[in-house]
Amino acid sequence: MDCQRIEELLRRLHLPRIRETFADSIERCSREETSLADFLGGLLEEEVAAREERRLARLVRQANFPFEKTLEQFDFRRHPEMRRQVFQTYLDASFVREGRAVVLIGPPGLGKTHLSVAVGIHMIQRHGFDVRCVLVQELVNRVMSADARERERILRPYSRCQLLILDELGYLVPEPGTGPILYELISQRYEKRGTIITSNKSLTEWGKVFQDAALAGAIVDRLMHHGDVYYLKGQSYRLKDKHLPPPGSGGEEAA
Ligand code: ADP
Ligand code: MG
Repeated sequence: MDCQRIEELLRRLHLPRIRETFADSIERCSREETSLADFLGGLLEEEVAAREERRLARLVRQANFPFEKTLEQFDFRRHPEMRRQVFQTYLDASFVREGRAVVLIGPPGLGKTHLSVAVGIHMIQRHGFDVRCVLVQELVNRVMSADARERERILRPYSRCQLLILDELGYLVPEPGTGPILYELISQRYEKRGTIITSNKSLTEWGKVFQDAALAGAIVDRLMHHGDVYYLKGQSYRLKDKHLPPPGSGGEEAA
């Protein structure tokens, strides 16, 4: 059979990787006298590997991370309040399966998003989980400007995904709808799916963030039942080589 016909058949069967490589494989096979079983097996293995690679790349795109970083790239020496060994336990599939939560709190530039993204990427690449990452304010704005049916459709992927990263809670003056939307998400995910939240406001300030102390209490209660909170300290990583005085020390006026 000629190569053109084989190519056509592979196209119809949706086997792009084999279509790319079969001509070389035939040549190598006759040169090295590979068995037919090894020849066919090799081609199929390649197609399956390429398919898996595409699936994971699709999951990473779908997660919508603001950037891609790993835990290996995170310098834990800057954070004595957090131990690498402890943080690594969040990479285990049980974090998602047991519906646990992590809340990372601190001023900007301390690596809260970096750590969250690192866990998210690992959960996709190692465990093939459905991960979503979203800015709280952006999600709330989308939900608030939608009608009831549309609202349901917007929220569904965030309540159902296996790991949800809610980034930057409390950064902007919050919409009044923020508390109820977050409560809905957190209570649907409670004890079933993993959640990571980053915030610049301490848990005790969440009542002000949501303009409802009781609602904030209910959210924190669920998160902390099987969750951990970290207060990150230190200077922004973005300013690490700039030798600036810490914010609020008065040094900025003098500069
Ligand atoms: P935050 O979400 O706390 O504002 P980010 O996670 O966005 O901070 O971090 C800001 C930048 O600094 C990112 O590029 C991140 O990779 C980097 N960064 C922050 N902390 C560290 C760290 N400890 N080690 C390596 N890179 C860091
Ligand atoms: Mg951030």
